[in-house]
Amino acid sequence: MAKLIDGKLIAAQIRAELRKEVDEHIASGNRAPQLTAILVGEDPASETYVSNKMKAAKDIGINSVTKRLPADIGEQELLDLIDRLNKQDTVDGILVQLPLPSHMRERVVCNAVLCEKDVDGFNEINVGRMCLDMKSVIPCTPLGVQELIKRSNIETFGKNAVVVGRSKNVGMPIAMLLSSDGRNETSAMDATVTICHRFTPPNKLEEYCKLADIIVTATGIPGLIKANMVKEGACVIDVGITRITDVNGKSKLVGDVDFDEVKKVAGHITPVPGGVGPMTVAMLMKNTIAAAKNLAEAKKERSN
Ligand code: ADP
Repeated sequence: MAKLIDGKLIAAQIRAELRKEVDEHIASGNRAPQLTAILVGEDPASETYVSNKMKAAKDIGINSVTKRLPADIGEQELLDLIDRLNKQDTVDGILVQLPLPSHMRERVVCNAVLCEKDVDGFNEINVGRMCLDMKSVIPCTPLGVQELIKRSNIETFGKNAVVVGRSKNVGMPIAMLLSSDGRNETSAMDATVTICHRFTPPNKLEEYCKLADIIVTATGIPGLIKANMVKEGACVIDVGITRITDVNGKSKLVGDVDFDEVKKVAGHITPVPGGVGPMTVAMLMKNTIAAAKNLAEAKKERSN
C-alpha cells in the first residue's frame, strides 16, 4: 500500500516556516511583505481562489490587497494598473488571477508584471530563466510539486519521470524542474523526463507511465491514470482537480488518478483534495516573501 503524501500537512509545515521568516524579516527593520491580487470579472471559482490566497497571506503576516476590476474593462486599463503597482514601493508581489476575459491577451498581461514582483512566475523572462536552470520565480503549482517530492525524500537523480499534460503553466514547468541540471544554479532534480499529452496514443501513455519511477499528472481527466499503468513502488503526484457528481448525486473533487486502485501498487501517492492543491497556495506565499526580501535588499543597496 502506497505511503500517502499529505499535502495539507506539508503545506501547514511550510506556512509555519514562512510565518517565522516573515517575523524575522520584520524584526530586522522591514515592513511586512505585501501581495496585491488583481481580479477581473466575477468568476466564482476565481473569487474563491483569490480569497483563499488572501486568507493564507494574512495568516502568515503578509499584507494583502485585492483590486477588483469589472469584466468589461479594457486591456489598457488593466495594464495601467499593473504599471502603477510595478512602480509602487509598498507592493512586493503582484498576481493577476487567470483566466482573464477573452478580450484580453493573457501573455501581454503576464509580461507586464515586473519580473521581481511576478509571484506567479508567468512573465516570459521568468519562464525563460527557469528553462535555462537560472534563478527565477517558479510558478506556484510546479514549485509545490517539487517541494512535495523533496520533502517526501523521493529520489529523482537519474530516475524516469513521466509528466502527463504539457500546459504552459503546469505540465511544462514541472517537466523542466524534473529535468533541471544539478550542475546549474537551481535546485536540481536530474530526472529523465517524458512529456505526454493529448496526442500521446493511450497505449503509448501506458507504456511510458509503466517505466516511470515518478508520474506527475495534470490533465483534468478523472481516472486517466489506472493501476495497470503504474510500476510497483512508483511515486504518483496528482495535479488534476475536477469537480464531478458521484453515483449518489453528490458533488466532489477528484484527480486524474484512479486513487483507490493505484494506491495498491504505488510507493507514494498524493490524494485529491489535500495533495498538490494546498501546496500551490503555500508556494505563492514563499514567492511573495522571497520577492519582498529581494526588493528590500535591492533598495538597501541603492541607498548605500
Ligand atoms: P492545466 O492548465 O491544469 O495543466 P490544461 O487543460 O491546460 O490544464 O491542460 C491539460 C493538458 O492535458 C494538456 O496539455 C493536454 O495535452 C493534456 N491531455 C489531455 N488529454 C490527455 C490524454 N488523454 N492523455 C494525456 N494528456 C492529455
